[in-house]
Amino acid sequence: MSTTSPITDPLVAWQRLRAGAERPPAARGRPAAGPLDEQPVAAVFRCADTCLANEAVFGQAVGSLIDVSTWGHVVDTGVLATLEYAVESLRVPLIVVLGHQDCPAMRAAMRAWTDTVIPDGAARTVVENAIGSIVRRGAGAASLAEVTSAHIADTGVGLLERSPVIAQQVDAGRLAIVCVTTDSTGDSIAVHATIGAVGEVDGALLECV
Ligand SMILES: [Zn+2]
Repeated sequence: MSTTSPITDPLVAWQRLRAGAERPPAARGRPAAGPLDEQPVAAVFRCADTCLANEAVFGQAVGSLIDVSTWGHVVDTGVLATLEYAVESLRVPLIVVLGHQDCPAMRAAMRAWTDTVIPDGAARTVVENAIGSIVRRGAGAASLAEVTSAHIADTGVGLLERSPVIAQQVDAGRLAIVCVTTDSTGDSIAVHATIGAVGEVDGALLECV
């Protein structure tokens, strides 16, 4: 049995992930499997078109992060059910919305916005969601970085709005959401927004960085 106490404080969970992400790649080592009975530190909701493993980005043991991924961060009931399970049953104190540089989904959204080219089929949902993010965040769409930042932040806010379970846990100070992107190698991260008790501004529910 592991003697490690579970992490219940959102800020402690985020500091652990951030410290792992900021270690030089050579110092992160190869992610090793953690104890089977160790509680997950965080749930990472990431875009499915990156081959970067969450544990490699954040320098954590394999199995210590719950992985949820869809293309372009489309949030459906399956995503919400998985995140609510992580938060409610596994007592995970942190959700990370993880985007990445040069994201094909965000590139498709940018093309749709600038050239009015909308894909056919279910991929259309990805583009429509990202365009909704641009509108709701009042963001510019001049660069891929702008579109990605707006969509990552809006996805975090959307989790709060669509899940009463997640909203209640954030209100109670037991859960936070951090919206970040990683570069194409997974060697560095940038924080775009925080929701809940990891922000640097006291009392701020949503802090855009
Ligand atoms: Zn992507």
